[in-house]
Amino acid sequence: MERHASCHCGKLVLRCTGEPSKVSLCHCFDCQRRTGSLFSVAAFFPRDRVAVTAGEAKAFTRPSASGRDVSFHFCLECGSSLWWEPDRLPHLIGVAAGAFADRDFPMPEQAVWSEQGHAWLDLPLVAHPRNPVKAAPSK
Ligand SMILES: [Zn+2]
Ligand SMILES: [Zn+2]
Repeated sequence: MERHASCHCGKLVLRCTGEPSKVSLCHCFDCQRRTGSLFSVAAFFPRDRVAVTAGEAKAFTRPSASGRDVSFHFCLECGSSLWWEPDRLPHLIGVAAGAFADRDFPMPEQAVWSEQGHAWLDLPLVAHPRNPVKAAPSK
């Protein structure tokens, strides 16, 4: 299976091969600010299954709640953030699930940072108050 994720203007395109290792929804305030929406959905793919096929990206790096950096790659033209590289999961790349514009994209298996989620959101997902994912060992 091959899927393409693209930014809002369509210039930046990623090709993702195979199924995502994990799909996770995040309610945290950082994701809210990044997306302008009330939560983000990340599709994590093994690094070697993701390739940029068109366009140029710029990266913005910030520490995540875990204290390890995450670099967000966004389109130079329209500013959509399309993928991110979490230092604590160096074998994975997170891709913005909405960028696939695919109604049949696999559903998230969990929601994290529900403690920062909006009270009226009631999603049919296992919810974690924070992020329970274990970090990869430090390099
Ligand atoms: Zn764009
Ligand atoms: Zn988040």
